[in-house]
Amino acid sequence: MSDGTDGTGALGGSGARRAARRDEAVRAALEQGLLGPGAPIAGLLDVTGIRESAAELRAAFEAVTAPGTPVLHAFAVKATPLVPVLRLLDQEGIGAEVASPGELALARAAGVPAERTVLDSPAKTPGELREALSLGIAVNADNPQELERVDALMASGTTTRSPLGIRVNPQIGGGSIEALSTATATSKFGVALRDEGAREWVVRAYLDRPWLTRLHAHTGSQGIPLALMAEGVAEAYALAEEINGRAGRRQVDTLDIGGGLPVNFASEETTPTYAQYARVLREAVPGLFDGRYGLVTEFGRSLLAEHGTVVARVEYAKSAGGRPVAVTHAGVQVATRTVYAPEAWPLRIAAYSGKGLPKEGPAVVQDVAGPACFAGDLLATARELPLLEQGDYVAALDTGAYYFAHHYAYNSLARPGIYGFVASGAGGVAFAPVRRPQEIEEIVAEAGGEHADALTGVLRREGPGDS
Ligand SMILES: *Cc1c(COP(=O)(O)O)cnc(C)c1O
Repeated sequence: MSDGTDGTGALGGSGARRAARRDEAVRAALEQGLLGPGAPIAGLLDVTGIRESAAELRAAFEAVTAPGTPVLHAFAVKATPLVPVLRLLDQEGIGAEVASPGELALARAAGVPAERTVLDSPAKTPGELREALSLGIAVNADNPQELERVDALMASGTTTRSPLGIRVNPQIGGGSIEALSTATATSKFGVALRDEGAREWVVRAYLDRPWLTRLHAHTGSQGIPLALMAEGVAEAYALAEEINGRAGRRQVDTLDIGGGLPVNFASEETTPTYAQYARVLREAVPGLFDGRYGLVTEFGRSLLAEHGTVVARVEYAKSAGGRPVAVTHAGVQVATRTVYAPEAWPLRIAAYSGKGLPKEGPAVVQDVAGPACFAGDLLATARELPLLEQGDYVAALDTGAYYFAHHYAYNSLARPGIYGFVASGAGGVAFAPVRRPQEIEEIVAEAGGEHADALTGVLRREGPGDS
């Protein structure tokens, strides 16, 4: 790998192994024709790496919790909404946190059991709530109006195995990325705990409803310092203690501490680690780990980001105003956040030759552009890389979460295929399709193809001006 930004010499073992697996996968994807002139973009998922991260997450919390503490790690499906990924994680002992009917359907299609699924969305309809309760899925109510809907379902005689809780916003402040800071004073999520009367309302809500047994807080994603995340968890813990104290029993038996562990997009090093976060939490909130509370976590980005790579062919290499520009097939459709908010979401880029070998050569300042028709469609600006040439490939690293699985249909660009890979022994790489590339016919169908004459047929002579 030669991304020009990364002190690869200082790598820990697992980062170096991950980079080596990625290099092998890029070369094999080209050899096996998953990538090439006719398939100029693909997403690759490192199955070995995903399994390792899942194991690290489990081990990190096992190391800090009292023996026998129930811990459910529920993967935030929005990070990588792909059924085979959810099944892989399920096999690794990781459940699913879902936030829409679509995400719930993906988790169910993957076979994630109801008792390892958590529903958290901020806009649940009565129908969604009813379904979740009938399936026995855990639900965290976002606000008083939602709790009223749950009340109505409970009053109508619904019996449910669903663990039920309330989401609170500890309002401890935001991180460096405003759009991802969920615990600011005015965040849209949960019951804002420091607003006047809110804390007392929450406590009363529990005292009046013996079936509320969980408490949920997710204090943000990417850009939140660990200490601030721990502060949010500490606030939730203190509230649970207050509720239980006033109830005179252990009514809240489980704390859902959300996800949000940041990912290091700047180098191959995994930092912070789950183990570090778990230790910070135990130091900040020791009572949470003494066995009196079960735990739910909801990590997304930190489980998948490092294990995904989007690889795209350099269709043209040109120059503008003296700066080389590589026009590739990866842009806003697979790296939406990076293209629209490059300061907040810079990605490392690795350069490969047409045969998929890491490209050597002196660093040259150049732009890496995408295929979309607007000037800002750039994966990287003024980046130092070996000079990219026509027929080379670029890889956007750490894109396994919130990137190529989140297709943005600008210019009707097709969703790329996504392939999982493992080393097959004997130096080879085995691939399995995770999501096949979108066909052009599908693009037409999804763009109203079956209604081609909708606006020129029955509606032709209607309209306010005609009558
Ligand atoms: C997005 C989200 C997560 C996961 O956040 P990551 O930063 O991907 O770990 C967890 N819980 C809730 C409620 C979320 O909205």
